[in-house]
Amino acid sequence: MKKAFSKKNLWDAMPSPLKVIASTVLAYIPLKYIIGKRFRETTNLISEADKWSREEVDNYQFIKVKEQILNAYQKCPAYKKLYDESGFDINSFNSIGDIQKLPLIDKAFVNKNIDDLLLVDKNSAGVDYVTTGGTSGVPLTFYINASRSQIEYAYLTDGWKRAGFNLGDTKAVLRGRVTGNKSGVHQSYDPVFNEHYYSNFHMNDDDMRNYISHIKSLSDCFLHVYPSSIYQLARFAKKENISFDNVKAILAESENVYPEQRTFVESVFNCRYFSSYGHSEKLIAAAECEHSSDYHVWPTYGLLELLDENGLAITKKGQVGEIVGTGFINTVMPFIRYKTGDYAEYVGNYCDKCKRHHTVIKNILGHRVQEHLVAIDNSLIPWTAINMHDDTFDDVLQYQFYQDIPGIAVIKIKIGKDFVDENKQRIINNIGSKLQHRINVSVEIVDEIPLTERGKSIFVDQHIDFTS
Ligand SMILES: [Zn+2]
Repeated sequence: MKKAFSKKNLWDAMPSPLKVIASTVLAYIPLKYIIGKRFRETTNLISEADKWSREEVDNYQFIKVKEQILNAYQKCPAYKKLYDESGFDINSFNSIGDIQKLPLIDKAFVNKNIDDLLLVDKNSAGVDYVTTGGTSGVPLTFYINASRSQIEYAYLTDGWKRAGFNLGDTKAVLRGRVTGNKSGVHQSYDPVFNEHYYSNFHMNDDDMRNYISHIKSLSDCFLHVYPSSIYQLARFAKKENISFDNVKAILAESENVYPEQRTFVESVFNCRYFSSYGHSEKLIAAAECEHSSDYHVWPTYGLLELLDENGLAITKKGQVGEIVGTGFINTVMPFIRYKTGDYAEYVGNYCDKCKRHHTVIKNILGHRVQEHLVAIDNSLIPWTAINMHDDTFDDVLQYQFYQDIPGIAVIKIKIGKDFVDENKQRIINNIGSKLQHRINVSVEIVDEIPLTERGKSIFVDQHIDFTS
């Protein structure tokens, strides 16, 4: 990926010893100035928008969407062709509700027309080329502003603020970063952002014991994590009877959050779990609020639509639809009514607890995490239905289902030191009866359960294409 210059990029690339020297100088400058002007501007916009009425939200989004549509129609041949063919007259876009007259686009449309979707020269300064990995399927490729990381960071920190976090507060970070290895400890420190990093690529008993004792040695801190990593650490802490009183909140992103995992992690770390939603296309971002664990969609980041299978807008509480996004962050390549492949349940367009006029959704299920097993009759069984809360996985550090034939699955397990061979049969029996024997399971002990290249976990390593 081509990376344009920005302070945050530069900082990320700087070797640790240099950071220490630089940080003694930087310590005198408030962090918001180090991160940059776009960060400060976005932070101000977000806090203004928190007070907007529904009319003000609609009006802002109408102006932003209209600007995107006009730009796209005039400068991007692929949008011009699409809108002309659909019979949509861009001059008839008079209110935010008119967006439903526009055709939808998807990953195939973007990949096919990548050079006909640009508003600026793709080789100009400040343009990044992005390709999303994923564990299977065709990757999505697109262009986006290099300056987005400052904007992104403003939204992230706004979400964290609701958990009590202030810029510069101590963070213990367990996410996809490979850290240094000092005397056997996979750990590093970023003094400017005041972040302690631990490697979630290294999670054996000794590693986790080291991370936990380091976290406990910190004064008050926030844990910034992947849901799967913190769940693994919480399971270990519980097994070792370790409790915490210095963690202010868990800040989680980037993977699906399962309710059972949330509750379990909250009980071990003795604090609230806050998660947020985003995706690499940068169309929609959402976070929980001070009082509710439903996701509040930031209206200044992009326009969210939840659509049913007929492409109609969902307006009833409790209905589930696909997240369709029109982003405001990307001014290099506009995404207008893009089908993300992620799903969520509609809650409302206002939170009466925090009084924000944000669209509120819950139970977000990302398509990027594969989470279904396929039964012998080709029916799908969600991973959450298999999640066991009894002693099934005692003394198992990590587990993952592997499947390439309907009706047959292998449970790969990474075992702890107390695991005995009889436990294997207990797993097979318990899982088998939970699945009502619609899937024949076997257990395989493995040394490692690999993470994706960005350090995320998948619970079902699914090799059956059940989407077609
Ligand atoms: Zn709220």
